[in-house]
Amino acid sequence: MPASKTTNPPKTLESKLARLGLRSDMDLVLHLPMRYEDETQIVSIREACLRGGHVSQVEGVVTKNEISFKPRRQLLVTIADESGDLLLRFMNFYGSQVKQMAEGVRIRARGELKHGFFGAEMVHPQYKVVNEGAPLPSSLTPVYPSGEGLSQTVLRRAIADAMKRIDWSDTVPAGIRAKMGLIDFEPAVKLLHYPPADVDEHALGEKSHPAWERMKFDELLAQQLSLKRAQRARREKGAPHLRAVGKLSEAFLKGLPFALTGAQQRVVEEIRADLREGYPMQRLLQGDVGSGKTVVSALAAAQAIDSGYQAALMAPTEILAEQHFRKIAAWMEPLGVKVAWLTGSLKKKEKAASNELIESGEANLVIGTHALIQDTVQFAKLGLVIVDEQHRFGVGQRLTLRNKGSDGLVPHQLMMSATPIPRTLAMTYYADLEVSVIDELPPGRSPIVTRAIDQMRRDEVIERVYAAALEGRQAYWVCPLIEESEALQLQTATETYETLAESLPELQVGMVHGRMKPAEKQEVMDAFTAGEVHVLVATTVIEVGVDVPNASLMVIEHAERFGLSQLHQLRGRVGRGSAASVCLLLYQSPLGQVAKQRLMTMRETTDGFEIARRDLEIRGPGEFLGARQSGQAMLRFADLELDGWLVDRARDVAQYLLDGEKPEKIAVVDAHLARWLGGREEFLKV
Ligand code: ADP
Ligand code: MG
Repeated sequence: MPASKTTNPPKTLESKLARLGLRSDMDLVLHLPMRYEDETQIVSIREACLRGGHVSQVEGVVTKNEISFKPRRQLLVTIADESGDLLLRFMNFYGSQVKQMAEGVRIRARGELKHGFFGAEMVHPQYKVVNEGAPLPSSLTPVYPSGEGLSQTVLRRAIADAMKRIDWSDTVPAGIRAKMGLIDFEPAVKLLHYPPADVDEHALGEKSHPAWERMKFDELLAQQLSLKRAQRARREKGAPHLRAVGKLSEAFLKGLPFALTGAQQRVVEEIRADLREGYPMQRLLQGDVGSGKTVVSALAAAQAIDSGYQAALMAPTEILAEQHFRKIAAWMEPLGVKVAWLTGSLKKKEKAASNELIESGEANLVIGTHALIQDTVQFAKLGLVIVDEQHRFGVGQRLTLRNKGSDGLVPHQLMMSATPIPRTLAMTYYADLEVSVIDELPPGRSPIVTRAIDQMRRDEVIERVYAAALEGRQAYWVCPLIEESEALQLQTATETYETLAESLPELQVGMVHGRMKPAEKQEVMDAFTAGEVHVLVATTVIEVGVDVPNASLMVIEHAERFGLSQLHQLRGRVGRGSAASVCLLLYQSPLGQVAKQRLMTMRETTDGFEIARRDLEIRGPGEFLGARQSGQAMLRFADLELDGWLVDRARDVAQYLLDGEKPEKIAVVDAHLARWLGGREEFLKV
């Protein structure tokens, strides 16, 4: 090989298509247009002029072709038909185009007609050279989502060619099609690529046309089929039977300073039943901020320990993990449970000691951060994995912990999230997941009043902090994450801290931020928990899990920069005690439309489910949570908000097809999955 510098080979069509995820003929055929162009009609130049402002297609012979230099270099081509003249103006052009549109040549041009200084003109129209009487297309021309260096012409040809090669047989049996009122696959696909000129364009645009419905149904059916298959595969794996709800569970419940809410009791029962089964539980515990998920997870851990197994709890940040550790250790160690602590910041010796406890089985419960999933950590007998704030972990991280079972058994998995996932999203995006919901807050909580305040009125806010402190209450003051620059973020937090310390000399002001060492952070958090610090200035490190019931005022700076679920999480840090709590959202005007909607939502409701619903509305499901990780590649056409009814139907049909393992049905399932998922089924396994 020559040692000279290598040049990248030109991108082949194949690789350009692959960048769009188009690898097989079927991928190409299912690459559907995003809109259409109507080239089915020609109007006279005169009529196009009368219409004005609309896109029209005209045809005429070139009468003049010149390059003008005023005001800058451009190509001016005049065409004429019997009704009049039209100027075509090209600001950028190739020499070949000048020749192509020579005088006497017949041209079909399509574009928006404008009335310029010199009469009617089209700027940069689409055009082609035609012979007189050349036929017009009978269907609309598709415009496909495309990528760099891939023209519509090339993409159209690739798709048209693929359509000649694929097997068009319908994977949905005729009986089901009839029952569901679905049109056939082949005509549906062909109509979407090449709609007849008289098609209902509105229905196409809205994706409510029967052809679109058929596509969405097929897509959702594929998804439901593969979810159900993944679920079956999981049920074939062995997991430890955690049968005993024994001494520890009972003593633990008895020792709690409160009684479980009805909702907590219900989800505890759901989890208990799962843990007794011989296949791995995969359950999401959803509950609004402050709904009391920790105690539920501790009860699940108690069941594992009562049954002679270990449990592990993993949290996304040190602060959160430490909060769990302190709380759960305080509950359980007096009952004889050995709790080990493992995070990345431990000293080598401490880590080795923790590992030893975990490996020997001496530790019944292990609490920590990502450090738990390292290769060096070996559990003696892991029966249950608990993941807090599950959406903050990647799919791979959750899987690794699940693979740490022993004797070929897969541990049960309980995932927790305070960010509620709407039902359709949970059903479709999160593969193979049972969901338990705590839909009730512990008694004695007082509602939080939320206000949005222009940051010009910062002094009033500082007054309120002072007033709260006089009443013996504490406050959080949150500074936003500045993604571009950690240094800048630190600077704003520090400035806020200094301003507050200066304006409130009688009060104790503390600060926590991401650059601090865990021990330093903990020291400040401890002082705040103990009530020695009145105001805690924080970057978003306090976002999750912090639990100081005496804090009743939350100030969020630059609230317009936060997402809805973050704002909701932050607000959930107050309103945990019996005092009336207040959340002040400081914003900088002018507010954008989305920010305005978010702040309004925050003022109007404290219900996490309602907030999640609106978030979905504002952002769309693709952006929602970590949903991108698992399911996004799957749903191209269906819209979970609008097509919920189709999700239900697809689910029923999937259930029917998988029932009884009949060979003819299995063939249907295989064919349908092959068509819609190709090699992508793996996405759904986690
Ligand atoms: P989250 O669901 O946000 O993780 P936590 O588990 O941290 O909520 O619970 C929030 C607070 O409520 C904690 O102080 C916890 O001890 C308390 N708590 C939990 N369950 C109850 C209950 N049934 N009655 C009273 N307080 C409870
Ligand atoms: Mg929590």
